[in-house]
Amino acid sequence: MHTSERSILKDQVFLRMALEISRLGTCCRLKVGCILLRPDGGIASGGFNGALPGMPHCTPETCGPDKRCLHTSHAEENALGFSEGLVSTAYVTDEPCLTCTRALVRRGVRRVVFLRPYTSLAEQEKAERSAILGHFNVQWEQVNLEA
Ligand SMILES: [Zn+2]
Ligand SMILES: [Zn+2]
Repeated sequence: MHTSERSILKDQVFLRMALEISRLGTCCRLKVGCILLRPDGGIASGGFNGALPGMPHCTPETCGPDKRCLHTSHAEENALGFSEGLVSTAYVTDEPCLTCTRALVRRGVRRVVFLRPYTSLAEQEKAERSAILGHFNVQWEQVNLEA
């Protein structure tokens, strides 16, 4: 297998892992999963979006198609919390928000691979996120799962 085929396979496998762990998400609007890799390529941790331990899960009253979820810690935040030291790559089911982008970059992430774009992100947040990605030269890739 060629190196490029191997890297495509890895992206597919880690994205599927992110999708699998997203099933544990406690938001009724969107379930998000994240897998972090260490600089040596090993898996650092995984996380999903969830309410704080012991707090009630999201309901259609707190989160809906037209209501942002403010009730959960994001998958990236949780995955970072479950790992130590530098991480290099993040696989996420959904394109990270500005806050998570900042947290990922601070911990060393320079490549982010995601399935679903975050289309409703506010323009001001999008601009700030772009500035961070440019400054730190972060690879930002939307990838589809192969059948
Ligand atoms: Zn929610
Ligand atoms: Zn986030």
